[in-house]
Amino acid sequence: EHAEDSIIWKHTVSGEYTASSAYNAQFLSITRTNMCKVVWKTWAPPNVKFLAWLALQNMIWTADRLAKRGWPNCGPCPLCRRGLETVEHLFFGCRYTLRLWGLVKDWLQLVSLDVAVWANYRSIKDWWFDMVATQRIHGRAMSSLTMLVCKSIWDERNARVFRRNFAPPTILLRTI
Ligand SMILES: [Zn+2]
Repeated sequence: EHAEDSIIWKHTVSGEYTASSAYNAQFLSITRTNMCKVVWKTWAPPNVKFLAWLALQNMIWTADRLAKRGWPNCGPCPLCRRGLETVEHLFFGCRYTLRLWGLVKDWLQLVSLDVAVWANYRSIKDWWFDMVATQRIHGRAMSSLTMLVCKSIWDERNARVFRRNFAPPTILLRTI
């Protein structure tokens, strides 16, 4: 009488579910080319690339994601003590981050870098891909720089949350 419900899995030719196809399907929104360009083909150590790869998929443990699961978290953003800590806030919305990028901009004379427009980006992917695509310097250099600045911000965030160590943007710039 009732036809049995069946689920057709679209991501393999056979229509059957496999773990690896599910894994690949998660990343369909990020084209392979983009991911290669902004993450894998950069000058950075593997751990830095891995952080970028996670961050681009909103898979790092920022306060918003911990809170959603009811897990202990650091509360307001540890860098500015104001905003909700999301991956977007941390890497392109936070006042601390904007200040740091302002210093990086002066240091490397990135004249076309305009942090004032960053408030318009709605996702980490949009921001990150544009950082790499729209800058008029070598794409691979910009990918590497974006990644290394993000890694430094994440390290500073963790130093504040777990070790109560606080460094201002000027000190972080020196580390970078
Ligand atoms: Zn903040």
